Amino acid sequence: MTDREAIDRAWRELVATARRTVADGLVVGTSGNVSVRVGDLVLVTPSGVPYDRLGPGDLTAVGLDGSPARGTLRPTSELPMHLAVYRATGARAVVHTHAAHATAVSTLVTELPPVHYMTAALGGPVRVAPYALYGTEELAENMLAALRGRTGCLLRNHGTIVYGDTLDEAYDRTAQLEWMCRVWLAASSLPGREPALLTPEQVAAAGERLRGYGQPG
Ligand code: 13P
Ligand code: ZN
Repeated sequence: MTDREAIDRAWRELVATARRTVADGLVVGTSGNVSVRVGDLVLVTPSGVPYDRLGPGDLTAVGLDGSPARGTLRPTSELPMHLAVYRATGARAVVHTHAAHATAVSTLVTELPPVHYMTAALGGPVRVAPYALYGTEELAENMLAALRGRTGCLLRNHGTIVYGDTLDEAYDRTAQLEWMCRVWLAASSLPGREPALLTPEQVAAAGERLRGYGQPG
């Protein structure tokens, strides 16, 4: 595959992933954003453009320093968060959403209590980054601190940000995170009852086992 083919293919996958966040109810309208890294290029959703209107001619990409590299549309306003993830980790894809249960949880706690073993799929109990205005370097800094040792975090009064080796992996982790937030909210909504939580050892054991999950290879 040539570089050009790899970039075009990554763009198609990025657009499909962004559309999926809307179809699955993880965002409303043009909220959220998606990026994928191809070599030293970062392909990103353009700011404020409905995902169903994005075609091959809308390819938008920047360098790792944020300098414009492809396209004429303005990149997502959350470029500082996406670039911070690529600079600090081995991430190949980043998904940011305003998923409803995750956003609700971000207003209630500083860490999502480990109610389910899928906590391990994100590297451990998911932290909540302190609030900062959307699109700012301050938000990116708060996010990086909350991501330490994790592949995702909640953003207070805002949403989720999750990374992975592929768009599918980042997307699936986001969906799992939203689902765990929903489970915790449901379990903690009974008056006078507190959900049972997993111990760090139980989360670690699930992490070990998840490494061999699914089909060989
Ligand atoms: P963009 O449309 O600029 O990507 O912004 C959406 C968003 O979620 C900001 O936090
Ligand atoms: Zn947002």
